[in-house]
Amino acid sequence: MRVAVTGGGGFLGSHLCEALLRRGDAVVCLDDLSTGRPENIAHLRKYPAFQFIHADVSVVADVPGQLDAVAHLASPASPPDYLRMPLQTLAVGSRGTENALELARRTGARFLLASTSEVYGDPLVHPQEESYWGNVNPIGPRSVYDEAKRYAEAVSFAYHRTHGVDVGIVRIFNTYGPRMRPNDGRVVSSFIAQALGGEPLTIYGDGKQTRSFCYVSDLVRGLVAMLDSSETGPVNLGNPEEWTVSDLADLVLGITGSDSEVQYHPLPVDDPVRRRPDIGRAGAHLGWHPEVPVELGVRRTVEWFRGRTCDDVTGES
Ligand code: NAD
Ligand code: UDP
Repeated sequence: MRVAVTGGGGFLGSHLCEALLRRGDAVVCLDDLSTGRPENIAHLRKYPAFQFIHADVSVVADVPGQLDAVAHLASPASPPDYLRMPLQTLAVGSRGTENALELARRTGARFLLASTSEVYGDPLVHPQEESYWGNVNPIGPRSVYDEAKRYAEAVSFAYHRTHGVDVGIVRIFNTYGPRMRPNDGRVVSSFIAQALGGEPLTIYGDGKQTRSFCYVSDLVRGLVAMLDSSETGPVNLGNPEEWTVSDLADLVLGITGSDSEVQYHPLPVDDPVRRRPDIGRAGAHLGWHPEVPVELGVRRTVEWFRGRTCDDVTGES
C-alpha cells in the first residue's frame, strides 16, 4: 500500500508511519510540525519508501501519484496545545479534513479519520458506546477541539454518502507512550516528566476524575486494523482500564521512585469527569483488543523518558 499520513510527525502519527513502513508499505507524511517534532521521524528517513512533505493541511493536502489510503491524524491533541491554537485547531478539523477527504476522493483511497473520545464531551453514559451522541459544550474552551472533531466525523460521512469515499472513523481514547513531548501538558507525560525532574506532580481538581489509558503500540495496531478493513465505524479504540488521576500519580511516583510531592490546581473548565470506552465493536469488527496493562505501559514510557531516544520505540519488547 501507499499511505498518506497527515500529522505523521506527531506522537501517534510517527508510530503509525513506522508500523506501516515496517510491514513494507510506502508512506508519505504530511505535517506542519506545529506540535510534532522532526526527531520523531528522523529515523524513518532510512526507509526509501518514506517521504516527508512539510505542509499545513488546512491550506493544502496534495500528494503526487497514486494512493491506497489517507490517514488523517493532523490536529493538536493536547488540551494546552489546542487551547493555545484555537483557530488552527478548528481549521485543521474542518478545512484540513475536507482537504484530506478530497485527496482520498481524487485518488480513490481509503480514508481513516483519527477522531476522539472528546466527541462524547463530559459523558452522561458510562462506559461510552459508539451509539452515544455525547454531551459537548459547543461554546466552551474545549469546543475548538471537540466540535472540530464532530464536524470532521460529519464531513467524512457526507463524503462517504455523496462521493462514495471509503471512510473509516476511529474514536481514540487517551493514549500515551514514547515520543510524547515531556511538556505537552497531557497527564501521563506531565506526571512522568515532573516525577523524573523532582518537581511537584500537578493534579487538577481533586484527582478523582477518571481516564482510561491505552499504550501506543496497542493503539497503532488498532489504527492499522481499521485501515486494512472496510468498516465505516465509528469504532472506539482505547484501553478500558479506568484510572483516577490520583491513582495514576501514585503509580508514576511508585515506578519512578520519585519523592516529588503532589500539588493540587484548579480543574480546567469542562474537564470530563469520567471516561471509559466500550470496545465491543472494535473486538467484533476488527478483532482488536489492547494487550499492554497500564503498569507495564507506564514503566516503558518512564524508561523512554529517562533515555529519550526517538528511534525504535514501536517495538513490542
Ligand atoms: P500530536 O500533537 O503529537 O500530533 C499531531 C500532529 O499533527 C503533529 O505532528 C502536528 O504538527 C500535526 N499538525 C497539526 N496541525 C496540522 C496542520 N494544520 N497541518 C499539518 N500537520 C498538522 O498529537 P497525537 O497525540 O499524536 O494525536 C494525533 C491525532 O490523534 C490527532 O488528530 C488527535 O486528535 C487524535 N487523538 C489522539 C489522542 C491521544 O490520546 N494521543 C486521543 C484522541 C485523538
Ligand atoms: N490532568 C492533571 N494534571 C496535569 C494534566 C492533566 O490532573 O498535569 C488531568 C486533567 O484535568 C484531566 C486528566 O488529567 O482530568 C487527563 O488530562 P489530559 O490532558 O491528559 O487528557 P484529556 O483531558 O484530553 O482527556
